[in-house]
Amino acid sequence: MNKAQKPGFCLFEGVSPATVSPVLASAEKRVLAQGQRLLGPGEINHDLFLVESGQLGVYADSAIELLLATIQPGDCAGELSVLEGEATSAAVIAMEPTEVVIIKSEQLWSLMAQSPVIAYNLLRTLGQRLRQDHVALRASLEGRQALEEAATTDPLTGLLNRRGMSDLFERELARVHRDGHSAAMFMLDIDYFKRINDSLGHRAGDLVLVHLAQNMRRCLRPSDLVARFGGEEFCVLLPGVDPGSVEDAALRLHRALGDMDESTRRSPVSYTVSIGATHSLSGDHINAMVERADAALYLAKQQGRNRIRVAAAS
Ligand code: GH3
Ligand code: MG
Ligand code: MG
Repeated sequence: MNKAQKPGFCLFEGVSPATVSPVLASAEKRVLAQGQRLLGPGEINHDLFLVESGQLGVYADSAIELLLATIQPGDCAGELSVLEGEATSAAVIAMEPTEVVIIKSEQLWSLMAQSPVIAYNLLRTLGQRLRQDHVALRASLEGRQALEEAATTDPLTGLLNRRGMSDLFERELARVHRDGHSAAMFMLDIDYFKRINDSLGHRAGDLVLVHLAQNMRRCLRPSDLVARFGGEEFCVLLPGVDPGSVEDAALRLHRALGDMDESTRRSPVSYTVSIGATHSLSGDHINAMVERADAALYLAKQQGRNRIRVAAAS
């Protein structure tokens, strides 16, 4: 077998050895050490590199953070910059000791003129590269979405955290105002929660928090927004509840949370909650509603806990 054809370069698949062999026989070779850069973003490149052995990595930039693709023996690198005559868009780095055969751009053009199969093979390689780029880009976007979600979610309960709340609640309140409706807000706090932690341990306290979060989600409408405000305090925004119905809505939630029978409760301990409620005023902001609901919650605590109080109408 002809030594020059040993790796079976994809570019020359189906092309007569008579066309390819002379080019390969006279082509220069380059040996790259592991980590050595073959191409860098922004560099002008006139060569196509056929990988004879080793492995190359294609990275979105020189920081080697986002690996777009690997190039294996038989494959090529640099084809896009040669075809476009533009600067290289990615960094290509040897992932292990790698040997490449260099085909000059004018040689490539002349080969393609002699054999359309080479042009077809190159097109196929470009197609594969495009698909790999899309896959890598999608994975990177999904990674960003996951990070964003983690930044706005409370890891223990899966509810919105304070950051997620300020964003989503404010947006929802603006929508409610735009539609000419109003909304209710509840601040909800577990009674004597410290005692649960002190007597049964922090883990039991955590289970109570998860249990309450799940039950709230079960008792509320899908359109209601629920956030863990901090510690054992939760905040709920109920769009579409008019001022005259706030007390009823709060009572309903309080009763529903207390009514869960033992099998549905699956709580490690029985507990009660206090709720402070308010409704939105025209031009209201979430922080102002939180302040009013919190003041009402304070009264519910002062007046004995396990009850609801509604902020005085202003
Ligand atoms: P009150 O009826 O007045 O609300 O009394 P309380 O004991 O519920 O309130 P207090 O503010 O005295 O105590 C709240 C406790 O919640 C103290 C804190 O250690 C505990 N806590 C805050 N975050 C967490 C958590 O993520 N897990 C657990 N297990 N405990 C928490
Ligand atoms: Mg409490
Ligand atoms: Mg509290």
